[in-house]
Amino acid sequence: MQIKVFKFGGASVKSAEAVKNVVNIIKLQENQKILIVVSAMGKTTNALEKLMHQSVNEDPKRFDTFKEIEHYHRSILEALIPDHSHPAYVDFRTLFSDLAALMEDYQYVDQQAYYSEMVSFGELISTKIVHHYFSYSGYKSHWLEAGCCLITAGVKMTEATVDWKISPSRIQQHVLPIFENHDLVITQGFIAKNLYGKTTTLGREGSDYSAAIFAYALDAQNLTIWKDVPGLLNADPKYFANTQKIDALSYNETIELAYFGASIIHPKTIQPLQNKHIPLFIKSFLEPKESGSIIGEAQENAIPIPSYIFKKDQVLISISTRDFAFVAEQNLVHIFKKLTDYGLKINLMQNSAISFSICMDFKSALVMPFVTDLQKEFKVKYNEQLELITIRNYNQSIIDELIGNRKVYLEQKNRTTVQLLVK
Ligand code: ASP
Ligand code: MG
Repeated sequence: MQIKVFKFGGASVKSAEAVKNVVNIIKLQENQKILIVVSAMGKTTNALEKLMHQSVNEDPKRFDTFKEIEHYHRSILEALIPDHSHPAYVDFRTLFSDLAALMEDYQYVDQQAYYSEMVSFGELISTKIVHHYFSYSGYKSHWLEAGCCLITAGVKMTEATVDWKISPSRIQQHVLPIFENHDLVITQGFIAKNLYGKTTTLGREGSDYSAAIFAYALDAQNLTIWKDVPGLLNADPKYFANTQKIDALSYNETIELAYFGASIIHPKTIQPLQNKHIPLFIKSFLEPKESGSIIGEAQENAIPIPSYIFKKDQVLISISTRDFAFVAEQNLVHIFKKLTDYGLKINLMQNSAISFSICMDFKSALVMPFVTDLQKEFKVKYNEQLELITIRNYNQSIIDELIGNRKVYLEQKNRTTVQLLVK
């Protein structure tokens, strides 16, 4: 059976109009079996995170947050399906009464488990609405709870680890029979369950990854991620005026771009696709007939165009020994151990004879405790408010133009990529 997987993110289902547009995109596909992975509508996950914190703190404002979330979804449902006796409203009420109950059940032993349980409502409600609207529009659509076949292993309840031994076969067992008499299967991105049946999540923006897992398990023909940009761009249009579309890119190059922080797709998305040679299309949900970008095996960028990734709010931490001795291997082992203990991720590092420098996101609340801790044994200096610029396929004039008269704190180059830490 030939199956395609489509992924629609929050922006593509943020309003009734947007959901109608999703249906129009499916209309363009003739006689296809499509598994559709959908995220929470608009900024719902942020709102649910807020609701979770307010609930834990018994903040009375949680009731307003709840009402806002409910009202937002109700107005989308009403615009799509005005008939209040439609079964969609039964699902709607059930989900929101479950959410209301969960809000008062904050004594959950595990905060991470509580988090996942609560934010999963975003995807559950969005997929219910989208599924019902497809049925209402005459499609043979089936709503699938992702957690019945996407299984995570281990103790982590957020950023959970996918159980690759179990999930693929479960997905096949669940999904293939449904496609015997349905054309569409609608399921949630981002959420899963562990072996005990508890809800887990795959990390923010994890729906792309979910879509890749389903594509892998189903040996999909291809995966299409529908976005509000024309395809893979060489820079984030929020920061860069003259972006260019990259028509084709290899899996490895895409992983690198995602790794350096390009906010195109979730970095974990590529690996499962690459393992099974499944092509990935990035297309615009606003211009669905345009070609978009293709990521695949033999895709090389014909004329490599430069790509830019900007990471703001970086901190550079320079560590040296108190007696100005070399920062030797045993020191590095110690520093890395501390980094892991604090759960900090390095964006760039460099060592010289007498100091070792690391650059990371300053937003983590754990950066300063880490610095203070290190200061017990080392001389530690730090510089805030730096920007990390990564350029792939660079040349000197591009570098000069981007730096302007800013000061460069650190620079690292290889054949294709340069990274510059500037202020
Ligand atoms: N709704 C989740 C988030 O906003 C997952 C996703 O959109 O990919 O992080
Ligand atoms: Mg989202």
